[in-house]
Amino acid sequence: MLDLNHPDTPPTFAISRENDAILSIAKRMTLISTEAKRELLDRALVHFAKMRLITMDHWSGSKPMLDTIDVLEADLRQLAALESKNNFVTDWKGKYCTACSAAITNLEAYNDMLYCPECLKVIDAGRNAVDQAFGLWCI
Ligand SMILES: [Zn+2]
Repeated sequence: MLDLNHPDTPPTFAISRENDAILSIAKRMTLISTEAKRELLDRALVHFAKMRLITMDHWSGSKPMLDTIDVLEADLRQLAALESKNNFVTDWKGKYCTACSAAITNLEAYNDMLYCPECLKVIDAGRNAVDQAFGLWCI
C-alpha cells in the first residue's frame, strides 16, 4: 500500500510520470519509420535526464536505481534502431509491422493503446527493472 505521507512518495510519482511519458513514446515508436523514431528518441532523452535528476536529488544518485534507467534507455535506443517502414499512427487497421510482422493492435477501450505488441517487448527488461527499483508497481 502506498503511503502518501512517506517522503519517497512525491519523487516516486515524479519518476512514474517520466516513466509513463517514455512508455508512451515507445508505443508511438512502434508505429513509425526508423527515420521518424530518431526525433522521438531525442524527446525521450529529456525524460531520462529528468529521471536521473530526481534520482540524484532524492536518492543520492543510488547506483542500482541509475543502472535501471540506463537499461531502459539502452532498450529504447534498441527499439529506435529497429529497421521500420511503419506509418501506422492513423492508418493501422489490418496492418502488419514492417519490423517484426506482428499485427498492429489497438485496445480501443483504452487511451494510448495502439502499438506493435512484439516490438514493444524490446523494452520489457528495462521497464521491469525501473518498476522494481523505484517501486512503481505500488502506484
Ligand atoms: Zn513490430
